[in-house]
Amino acid sequence: MAGFRRASVLGAGTMGAQIAAHLANAGLPVLLLDVSKDAADQGLARAKRLRPDPFFLADGAALIQTGSLDDLSGLTASDWIIEAIIENFDLKRDLLRRVDEVRKSQAIVSSNTSGIPIGALAEGRSDGFRRHWLGSHFFNPPRYLRLVELIPTPDTGPDVTSALEDFVDRRLGKGVVVAKDAPAFIANRVGLFGVVRLLEALASGAYTIEEIDAVTGPAIGRPKSATFRTLDIAGVDILSHVTRDLAERLAPDDARRFELPSLVGRMIERGLLGEKTGHGFYKRVTDARETRILTLDVQALMATEGPGAEPANFYVDRRTPRLPSLEAAKSIQDVGARLRALFGASDTVAALLRDAVAPTLQYAVRVAPDIAHSIDDVDRAMRWGFGWEIGPFETLDAIGQAPAAGAIPGSAPPTRYRTGALPPAKPEYLILRAAKERSRIVKSNPSADLVDLGDGALCVEFHSKMNTIGGDTVAMLHAGVDEAAANFSALVIGNEAENFSAGADLLLLLLEAQEDNWDEIDRMIRAFQGATMALKGSAVPVIAAPAGLTLGGGCEVCLHAHRVQAAAETYMGLVEAGVGLIPAGGGTKEMLLRAGAPDAVRSVFETIGLGKVSTSGPHARRLGYLREVDDITMNRERLVSDAKALALLRSHEGYQPLVPRTDIPVGGADTLAVLLLGIHLGVRGGRLSDHDALIGRKLAWVLSGGDLPHRATVSEQYLLDLEREAFLSLCGERKTQERIGYTLKTGKTLRN
Ligand code: NAD
Repeated sequence: MAGFRRASVLGAGTMGAQIAAHLANAGLPVLLLDVSKDAADQGLARAKRLRPDPFFLADGAALIQTGSLDDLSGLTASDWIIEAIIENFDLKRDLLRRVDEVRKSQAIVSSNTSGIPIGALAEGRSDGFRRHWLGSHFFNPPRYLRLVELIPTPDTGPDVTSALEDFVDRRLGKGVVVAKDAPAFIANRVGLFGVVRLLEALASGAYTIEEIDAVTGPAIGRPKSATFRTLDIAGVDILSHVTRDLAERLAPDDARRFELPSLVGRMIERGLLGEKTGHGFYKRVTDARETRILTLDVQALMATEGPGAEPANFYVDRRTPRLPSLEAAKSIQDVGARLRALFGASDTVAALLRDAVAPTLQYAVRVAPDIAHSIDDVDRAMRWGFGWEIGPFETLDAIGQAPAAGAIPGSAPPTRYRTGALPPAKPEYLILRAAKERSRIVKSNPSADLVDLGDGALCVEFHSKMNTIGGDTVAMLHAGVDEAAANFSALVIGNEAENFSAGADLLLLLLEAQEDNWDEIDRMIRAFQGATMALKGSAVPVIAAPAGLTLGGGCEVCLHAHRVQAAAETYMGLVEAGVGLIPAGGGTKEMLLRAGAPDAVRSVFETIGLGKVSTSGPHARRLGYLREVDDITMNRERLVSDAKALALLRSHEGYQPLVPRTDIPVGGADTLAVLLLGIHLGVRGGRLSDHDALIGRKLAWVLSGGDLPHRATVSEQYLLDLEREAFLSLCGERKTQERIGYTLKTGKTLRN
């Protein structure tokens, strides 16, 4: 197969424009077409305004060229053509006939259809077209949702499927599941079945909206938006379309299971469609003082016939449900064990699970052979597409029994579907987890482990809460450097959790500050500085592998690594100013080093002073937290594997340890004056509080090299000492302690 150099997306609606954006994120030039060039431009403009942002970088759209579907001549250059126009069989088929006439012979053509049979869309097309044709079903929003289902037909070349699978996995970073050409494919078939059961449970009057959402969220390993908040985001009308389309393609007894309760029809009649109309199952009301969430009063809605009643009358204050077994299960960490406990309870929670969730598990068992090539694929599709922590078969294994009441008769499952956990989809996925399962732990403490990744690579894995950095993590960084120098050829710092590290353990710091334990704080900073300098001076190459939140101390660890292999979704920043501090683990020093000339210090001053956080890996490069030489991994599950490969490559290339620098240029009094003027203007203009200004002056002091009359050169240790002094003095400030306390309590920052 030829490479993927250029792509085209046909249809610039919700999905098409965002798929084009994500192709641009992967660095591909894209041609985006719609009924007219204007329509394509509007679609692209809508995508640019979406939040969360479909683009990694604000200027990402520069790779996207727009045009009209009237002229398909631009398609001849495309290696992949994705059809994403409205869900209409005749329109799609007609467009594909025209694509067949212009596509180059090796170009892959795919459809994003949610439900039209893929095989039927290609009937009448040339042999070459059919060999290069398949379904590629993205989920909304395509940048953030992990799953892409690929649906080959019997005519699709196996090389075509595998080439696209590889591209979607590595370059787009998606979890690929190859599905059968069955109605709604895998994730929506099982997921929608589950949604309809939960709607029936609501319509039965036995459970409230609040109860169902409390049970079907994180408690059972599903997203926070649970059932009804998710439906409000997706749109109640969309649900109705999709289930109707699906039912039309199913045999009658199966189709019946996708009939929505009359409650949904009522909601649509009244315009209660969810977020797009301002109210659905929930309604957010904001008055001068506060934002309140109201809940749909199902009985009031169903009791009111005909027009006249205002939608506002159907909402009541949200009530927190009382579900004791849910409260009790909160302390159970493992989601499988939690589900077992909840299924085994004898209250509303267990009843709901048996009425609505158990039938969904049974349905997955029943339809798996029709929709998927393996039960692992069903579990992966639900994890990646619906954000479930464990899939239906994993759940059945975890609860260890055939769920009783409400089950579909005649489908009693065996006790276990697989031995052991769901295996990673590919050998290069989640290699840290695999190494730990093979007992490759070299050293361990409550916050971090050293893990042997094989082939001479050692990994420091943080596993404290939010992977915050405290005494144990710092000790393990030191231990990692020593162990790697003695017995390994390279060191990786990474983990497979959602967040690389949320930064230093602020609680510990606050307690010491409130007790005036300045010596202890001084010792803590020295220890952390020692650890980051040890990484930098390591005898073997050190590769940091950040993903998700990589803040404060977490960012400083990365700044001291020889190379960074960052996940595309990396939210990185030196955010210390937000809690009234400055980076003192060498972060200020490293950013100064990267600035190079003293004149470039101003942008570093702003980046740290404003605590800028990247919105993606490529954006972290723009902010200077990553360098051009640092790499990005699109697929989170490949991150540690890629970091390991880079670490070993660096080692084989003949890595030379770095010596601490003593020749760092600083600007002295001139630079300080410029930075102080900026602070002064910020205060005058009302943009900075007095405490912001104090933090800014401390930061400016470090960045200009302290008390120096002229430009000079200084050592790394000199700068570390300045950082530490500034940090310590800020710790003693009441307003800094207030900021820390506020962040600990709310997770937000206080501007005092
Ligand atoms: P949409 O309605 O937002 O966009 C469809 C686009 O197609 C519009 O911009 C429209 O102008 C254009 N179009 C092109 N040719 C057309 C023609 N001849 N007549 C009318 N419109 C024409 O739809 P969408 O949500 O982006 O869905 C696109 C495809 O992706 C559909 O097949 C849908 O089933 C599928 N899909 C949607 C989602 C989702 O969540 N929205 C998820 C997965 C798959």
